[in-house]
Amino acid sequence: MQVKGVHHSLVIYAGSVSDLHTVTWGKDGVSVGAVCTLSSLKEEMERAAREMEAERTRGYQALLQTLQCLAGKQIRNMATIGVNILSANPKYDLNSVLAALDCTLQVQSKENGTREITLNEELFTGFGKTALRPDEVLLSIDIPYSKPAQRREFAFSIVNAGMKVVFRKGSNKVESLNIYYGGVGPTLVKVGHTCQKLVGQCVD
Ligand SMILES: Cc1cc2nc3c(=O)[nH]c(=O)nc-3n(C[C@H](O)[C@H](O)[C@H](O)COP(=O)(O)OP(=O)(O)OC[C@H]3O[C@@H](n4cnc5c(N)ncnc54)[C@H](O)[C@@H]3O)c2cc1C
Repeated sequence: MQVKGVHHSLVIYAGSVSDLHTVTWGKDGVSVGAVCTLSSLKEEMERAAREMEAERTRGYQALLQTLQCLAGKQIRNMATIGVNILSANPKYDLNSVLAALDCTLQVQSKENGTREITLNEELFTGFGKTALRPDEVLLSIDIPYSKPAQRREFAFSIVNAGMKVVFRKGSNKVESLNIYYGGVGPTLVKVGHTCQKLVGQCVD
């Protein structure tokens, strides 16, 4: 086959490689094969949200919300998680969510074996371009469980916040609001403008 002037003597359809479809649940999270369809991913996330502790699946629930409104069912039945990521199209929905969830990619090449890449802004080098080398294929995407942030005694916070909201009696209208942040500057910060704007507003 000739593609963009380069002759390929062998072409492999990734969709027919069964290993690339595998979904494996482990102690740290789930590993999703690169050609797993978005519909299969959605089903896995639905099952996790249904059957696992809510604390561990907060990230999966966010991913599920994204998948529910991503394109339409026909597209989700065909589109794969791997190519959605590697398309490096900033309008595609999954990369921002997967990056926020601390996902990693397992990629492989014939010459250099397997390596792990963090899914963050450094993966994307331009519109439609990624840091994958030309000879690398994506094997799977690791999506970790959410970790409940448990604060220990004597652990200084990085950032802290205090908030008090008072509603007008018998209504959902904000009567007064105080929001303070610590650890974001040299002194305590009051989020004054936001508080002022929200007073008098109704909260759904
Ligand atoms: C009408 C329409 C609406 C859409 N709307 C949205 C939307 O709202 N939100 C959104 O996020 N996305 C949207 N998409 C994009 C969609 O989700 C898919 O990501 C995109 O179409 C890629 O499709 P595909 O997975 O079938 O890959 P294909 O189009 O089949 O691309 C395959 C390419 O990827 C290469 N490839 C395959 N597997 C690998 C691998 N493992 N490693 C390296 N390269 C590999 C192949 O060699 C080939 O070049 C939309 C798409 C369409 C057509």
